[in-house]
Amino acid sequence: MLRAVRRATVPGAMQKSVITAEKVSSTGLTKEELQRYSRHLIMPEVTAEGQKRLKAARVLCIGAGGLGSPSALYLAAAGVGKLGLVDFDRVDLTNLQRQILHGTKDIGRSKLESARDRLQDINPDIHIELHECRLSSENAERIVAEYDVIVDGSDNFATRYLSNDVCVFAGKPNVYGSVFRFEGQTTVFAPHLGGPCYRCLFPEPPSPESVPNCAQAGVLGVLPGIIGMLQAIEAIKLVVGIGEPLIGRLLHFDALKVTFRELKLRRDPQCPVCGENPTIFAPIDYDQFCGAPDNETVPGISVLELKEKVDTRQAFELIDVREPFEFEIARIDGAKLIPLGEIAERADELDRKQTFVIHCHSGRRSAEAVRLLKERGFTNVYNLEGGIDAWSDFIDPTVPKY
Ligand SMILES: [Zn+2]
Repeated sequence: MLRAVRRATVPGAMQKSVITAEKVSSTGLTKEELQRYSRHLIMPEVTAEGQKRLKAARVLCIGAGGLGSPSALYLAAAGVGKLGLVDFDRVDLTNLQRQILHGTKDIGRSKLESARDRLQDINPDIHIELHECRLSSENAERIVAEYDVIVDGSDNFATRYLSNDVCVFAGKPNVYGSVFRFEGQTTVFAPHLGGPCYRCLFPEPPSPESVPNCAQAGVLGVLPGIIGMLQAIEAIKLVVGIGEPLIGRLLHFDALKVTFRELKLRRDPQCPVCGENPTIFAPIDYDQFCGAPDNETVPGISVLELKEKVDTRQAFELIDVREPFEFEIARIDGAKLIPLGEIAERADELDRKQTFVIHCHSGRRSAEAVRLLKERGFTNVYNLEGGIDAWSDFIDPTVPKY
């Protein structure tokens, strides 16, 4: 049976791998590895040659969260020789609904340490490299240079643009994934292999005003599982050199309808990073644009300053502009709830001579509220930077995070 399959033309047979033949030729498999990966080796599309490519491969997972968890788990199990992880966060209880790299016992630990323990348990033969940092213009090129394939499991625009740009500069495929409530999508950005990059689709990051506010949209926990695993499959295909990669195609998954739709993606010759006349040649930090409110026009105070105001009994009013259901989950003592959507019409309830501190979940909606109040003649109004999330992180850990 096996012989028959081998003789037949194999449609997904190995073609060009992103791993050079030179690197593979110096890689061998131990007796134990032959056993561990036997279900790979018996497939004519993979064989020992494909497994050696996996062993020679270096794959970087950006984020050890919802998408990074399933990607990293399967990439480790598949025998990717060097698996890098970038993250700076700690495990908290709200992560466990989807971030299956981490367990209840890991709450409070660094995500990277928790991930390393789990991955090394799955496969002690691979090398795991931890990059405990936020990907930035300072470090992105240096980190990406160490890898052959990048799996982007980040959850924000700043990192997505940065990882796209540095992958284009370095000529590395970027396996993209994103999830939102019950839907997710994935593709492979690789202009050097003929496909578009992220900027071919979205040349510039969205303006802060148009970025969805910090009301958490939520995500079905298993959804990043599906998308993250698809990302792992794409990374493995690129390494082994089989099948048709998702280059120039975007796969969209709807969990409620259970549909997979494929969209064709085209390169944009005018793309600012991979086009004919590129205008971007160096990594850019977009934090100031899309990770945080526009601080230049909105006066802000830190959670430490707010704590001091409370402790020294300064006169001010704290306004919470989140939604009532969020107020139910967590609140800062003494805050008055006026959801952002009502702030303009209820402004007259507030005394314009007072000092106000406005907060939301992470600082974006409250920045908008500060702008609205300033337009209505309020002068002493400040945005709480980082919102109740930062309050919980730095001041009062008994305030639940969500
Ligand atoms: Zn492009």
